[in-house]
This record gives sequence, C-alpha cells and structure tokens, in this order.
Amino acid sequence: MRNSTERLVVALDADDTLWSNEDHFRQTEADFLELIAPYCPGRTHEDLARDLLEIERTHLGIYGFGVKGFTLSMIEAATTLTNGSVTNNDIERVLQLGKDLLQVPTVLLAGVEEAVAELASHYRLLLITKGDLRHQQSKIDESGLTHHFESTHVVSDKSPREYRTILNALDVDPTEFIMVGNSLKSDVLPVIELGGVGIHIPYHLTWEVETATVPQTLDVPTLTTLAEVHPYLQTSHPTYLAKPETAS
Ligand SMILES: [Mg+2]
Repeated sequence: MRNSTERLVVALDADDTLWSNEDHFRQTEADFLELIAPYCPGRTHEDLARDLLEIERTHLGIYGFGVKGFTLSMIEAATTLTNGSVTNNDIERVLQLGKDLLQVPTVLLAGVEEAVAELASHYRLLLITKGDLRHQQSKIDESGLTHHFESTHVVSDKSPREYRTILNALDVDPTEFIMVGNSLKSDVLPVIELGGVGIHIPYHLTWEVETATVPQTLDVPTLTTLAEVHPYLQTSHPTYLAKPETAS
C-alpha cells in the first residue's frame, strides 16, 4: 500500500524561507540613503528610496536578481540622484556596502533545521532559489542543510519556465509538486499556473517587487512556519492537487 504523500516532491525557497535576507537588503538600503541624502536637499529618504526602486526594476531584466545587480543600481542611483555630484570616495563606499551585503553570514530562521530534516524524511526534497549564482551557492553551502536535499537549484528567475525546466529534468509531474516559500509572486503563483501547489509562508518583510495579488478564486494555503508543512500535507489535499492514487 502506498502512502498518499510518498511520491510528492516538495521544494523550498531559500531567502526569507530558510534564512533571513530582506532585513539585510533593507539595512543596506538605509545605509545607502543615509550616504546620498546630503546631496539631495529637500528630498526625503522615502523619495530617494522610491527612485532607487524604479532603477532596480528597470535593471532586473538586464542584471537579474541579487546583490550584484542591487549594487549597480545603487551606483546608478548615486550618480543620477545627485546629478553627478557624488564623489569617487562615496561611490567606493557604495561598492563596499554591496560587498558587505554579499558577506552577511547565513543565519537559519528559527526551527528551520528541524523542519527541513523532517521534510527530507518524508518527501523528495528540493531547494530552488533565484539570484546571483555564486552568492546563492555560498549561502546554500553555509547553511549546512545541503545533505537534506535531493538537489539544489539556483535559477535566474522563478517563472513557470524555470520550474518546468527543473521538473522536466527530474521527471516530476507538476501535479505531484509542492513549492513552499515567502513570495506569492515567485514561489506560489507560477507553480499553481503549472498545475502544482504553492504554499505561502509569509516573512515579516517583503520586497515590493515580490508582492502579488492572488485571484479570489485561488485558495492559497498560508502557513506560519516551515514546521507546519508536513502536518499540513498529511491532513489536507489542496483542491488543485491531483487526488492521491488509491491503494490497489
Ligand atoms: Mg524568498
């Protein structure tokens, strides 16, 4: 007799799902705004943050996600928002902010280590994260969690295309696939679009680019911690997940 959840493949997001991330970006952004505000009299930090975000958005299609692209966006913001008056010395300080952000230690969120071990004992477990390849890989290595995952994947974006590529390579049907993460836009909606399940575990901070509106017709499972995922999958069969095979 086959356990109804045995065949399921569970994939975990990493940033702000396994370890903190957005907090560090916010701190770097605050340090950056502090640095350039004196060049921009009459403009509030909120004004400058909005302009930086617009520059980041226009750069995503060029540099992709991650700290390196963010650093280039900060440099461009420093030159354009100050009308070119920013000093070389301050550009160096911006570069240092980026380097410091790349070297923030990877700190697991509370309970993650135990929850990942439990999930690995019940499901085929994957890690799927997006951003700079080298930075993401170093965080995965630093986490000490690698041995729990069947495979880990660093992708440039989390659209249905990237998920389909991974599932095809592993010969996994989307109806047997569950993605767990803090971003509705990246972890939940594209997986639902493919016919899988997206479980949302909100983080206390969300980058504006990662926000999304969920159609009212979708009942997205929302949990508080990673430890709740296994109990949830044992007791619930999300309506858009294919029914488990009946024992024969
Ligand atoms: Mg995330």
